[in-house]
Amino acid sequence: MARLVVVSNRVAPIEEGKQQAGGLAVAVMAALKKTGGVWFGWSGETVDADSGELTIARAGAITRATIDLSRRDYDEYYNGFANSVLWPLFHYRIGLLSFSRRTWEGYLRVNALFAEKLAPLLRGSDMVWVHDYHLIPVGERLRERGLENPMGFFLHTPWPAPEVLIAVPTHAALVKAMCAYDVVGFHTESDLHSFANYIRDETGGTVEHLGEEGMRIRAYGRTVLARAFPISIDTGAMTAVAQQAGRTVAARRLRESLVGRDLIIGVDRLDYSKGLPQRFEAFQCLLDNYPELRGKVSFMQIAPPSRSDVPEYAAIRRELEAAAGHINGRFADFDWVPLRYLNKSFSQKALAGFFRTARIGLVTPLRDGMNLVAKEYVACQDPDDPGVLVLSRFAGAAAEMREALIVNPFDAEGVADAIQRGLTMRLEERRERHAALMAHLRRWDIVRWREEFVAALASVPTAAERRRNIA
Ligand code: UDP
Repeated sequence: MARLVVVSNRVAPIEEGKQQAGGLAVAVMAALKKTGGVWFGWSGETVDADSGELTIARAGAITRATIDLSRRDYDEYYNGFANSVLWPLFHYRIGLLSFSRRTWEGYLRVNALFAEKLAPLLRGSDMVWVHDYHLIPVGERLRERGLENPMGFFLHTPWPAPEVLIAVPTHAALVKAMCAYDVVGFHTESDLHSFANYIRDETGGTVEHLGEEGMRIRAYGRTVLARAFPISIDTGAMTAVAQQAGRTVAARRLRESLVGRDLIIGVDRLDYSKGLPQRFEAFQCLLDNYPELRGKVSFMQIAPPSRSDVPEYAAIRRELEAAAGHINGRFADFDWVPLRYLNKSFSQKALAGFFRTARIGLVTPLRDGMNLVAKEYVACQDPDDPGVLVLSRFAGAAAEMREALIVNPFDAEGVADAIQRGLTMRLEERRERHAALMAHLRRWDIVRWREEFVAALASVPTAAERRRNIA
């Protein structure tokens, strides 16, 4: 099998023992171990010097290659275009979009630098797999350098409807860059259709439906396979961790602190796409509309801060602090704090124990590519006495997880009703819903996701085959 070259903004450590438990990192490492290969990306370091200092480390057949970025490049590419334009745009928040030619140029400059530094590391037979919205143009820059390798791109966020996408003045350049790849992957059929609609309506390209195999797109003189590959979790590993984690000191102390109350849990990066103000409002509605639950439930929201350099993230943090204070001020009693709001992160093991303890998993983003927390919550339940997932219809996960209680996060009273329904749901119904969700998660785990994508990439005709076909 051809060697795999993975390109992503951040690169996990490759040395044994230093690897993190993150699902994607584990999946990528497993793929790289199979075929040998390279993982290329930003080192995570910003430097006073120019960008581009290359660091290469090797462990067995895997090479980790990273480059440093100057503060200016980091600011324009990462904080600027990627996180202040593409992130809000792809999450349908065009009101938060802060476009400038300066950050667009910075984004293009860093993507060109990635291609320049990566190209010499590539062999003719390598398959290249680029990840996420930071790096859309990398493939096109590699093509301009004459590289004909099979190249795939996977988007870890939603892809928006054309009416939303065209809010960014450079939409045509972004879509053209997508078409430099041989395979483009999205989380859901809905994202895939949004992409295909743009191709049809805005580029004059054609879209051929291939059923389960996705769509064949012809645009900008290229042929691209576009398909939904819903990402997932390492279901078996997560379930095993949760069985252990339920017995850890942290999980035991959490249970003791609840003194018999039901726990509702939310776990999200502190990000405006996650719908946290609306979620707090829904919890308030729950206590207002179902007063019998006062003193009987605790809501724990874990929200580690992220991207604090971007002003919108500081703003939402202030908003949530005020909302949390308001709810506790209004409802708390001398022996009960309704909302526990934690601005810090926990290990996956600790989270697994918390998930297993929680009667309700509350996952209500306003828009989310997939949302792995939804899947993790389900995988961590005790199948004999499982909790209930309350899930936003706007999370990619909702397309697969139909047995969750699906809600509209903008409808605070509807979310409150769903929480109440979950809290009072009969054991038999909880078990049935959980078993159905688990059956899906066991079939569609992260290994399947990675294998499907790599298989699609491996089926792309090589440049030599394409030339033979033409001849
Ligand atoms: N996570 C974690 N510790 C925390 C909070 C989150 O390990 O304190 C993990 C969580 O278990 C999940 C990931 O971070 O695997 C978040 O992925 P998701 O798709 O839900 O959201 P994203 O942050 O990618 O938008």
